[in-house]
Amino acid sequence: MSLENIGNFIKAITKYGVKPHDIFEANDLFENTNHTQVQSTLLALASMAKTKGNKVNVRVKYAEKQEQRFEPEKLREGRNIIGLQKMESDISQAFQEELTCFICLGYFTDPVTISCGHSFCQACLHLSWEDMEVPVHCPMCREPSLQKDFRTNTVLKKLVSIARQASLKKSLSANDHKCDIHKETKRIFCVENKIYLCKLCSESHEHCAHTHCAIETAGESQMEKLLIKMASIWEKMEENQQNLEEEDSMITQFRDYLTQREDMISTEYQKWYPVPFDEEKQHIEKMKNEGQCALEKLRERISLMLLKSMELRDIYEEMMVLSQKPYVELLQGFEDILQRSESMRISMPQNMKPELSALPITGLTERFQSFQGERQQ
Ligand SMILES: [Zn+2]
Ligand SMILES: [Zn+2]
Ligand SMILES: [Zn+2]
Ligand SMILES: [Zn+2]
Repeated sequence: MSLENIGNFIKAITKYGVKPHDIFEANDLFENTNHTQVQSTLLALASMAKTKGNKVNVRVKYAEKQEQRFEPEKLREGRNIIGLQKMESDISQAFQEELTCFICLGYFTDPVTISCGHSFCQACLHLSWEDMEVPVHCPMCREPSLQKDFRTNTVLKKLVSIARQASLKKSLSANDHKCDIHKETKRIFCVENKIYLCKLCSESHEHCAHTHCAIETAGESQMEKLLIKMASIWEKMEENQQNLEEEDSMITQFRDYLTQREDMISTEYQKWYPVPFDEEKQHIEKMKNEGQCALEKLRERISLMLLKSMELRDIYEEMMVLSQKPYVELLQGFEDILQRSESMRISMPQNMKPELSALPITGLTERFQSFQGERQQ
């Protein structure tokens, strides 16, 4: 179809009486760009013909065309159903992504939202900012933050708990979570044997005296207990770090004190005994030995604290890993880690204050008293 022919057609129908705003532009048809406009022009032409009393079939033809177009539409509708299912899985995927920590790539555990708006597990932030002074930086966007401690984001926490509970339901409904003997879902956790039982098994002679709990409720409550333990271990880690720093500065201070004290003793002896006096040498020697012993003890204390700091960090990380496990696995590992963390909390190395025994300088006490006596007169 040439552009010229189209032009003639347009001229003709305009003459025929079709309104200009109903007519397509030549290029709409020539370049195949505006089908809708071409169709409505044809319809306008048909109705114009009808009003003029002509029998035209355009309407019917148009309808046929519609029918032809129905097929792909139906197809698209079918695609929409698949699309919806995909969308649902996309949403749950997106939902899951929103509940995933950028640092550990697991579900948030005790999520906190920092000043830039990004959220992380409390424990992940604690560990990644452990040795840093403020301002610390967001692990995602690097925005500085003057604060290191944040409150739990309770909404996020609730959403994580819903998601975890849903995946627990899913794993409970799986076939490998059914009792081999009774073919029932194993919903009960035996604390003594750390295994899962169906109701009938839990009432059996072997288990009836054991402590049992329902997985669905126990998962969440043990998770809460684990978070409390983690918080208390973190507190101990901070306390230990504080002790360590204090002990470290105590070593420096004590070393300085030993040097000062040696000077003091020498000055004192020189004041009263201008001729070198054996007692002075002995006195300093004794003080130095005592000082070295105290320094040794301080250093021992420091290595104990360093060891403790490693132990605490290890168990904290272990707890963090456990907290990210599905509830089914969390229940099995919980008791063991709890007991170990208890014993660790009890044996915390404490700071010590080094002391030196005060040796009298021969004659000094008497002179001092006499000096006092003179003053009193
Ligand atoms: Zn994390
Ligand atoms: Zn950020
Ligand atoms: Zn059973
Ligand atoms: Zn049992």
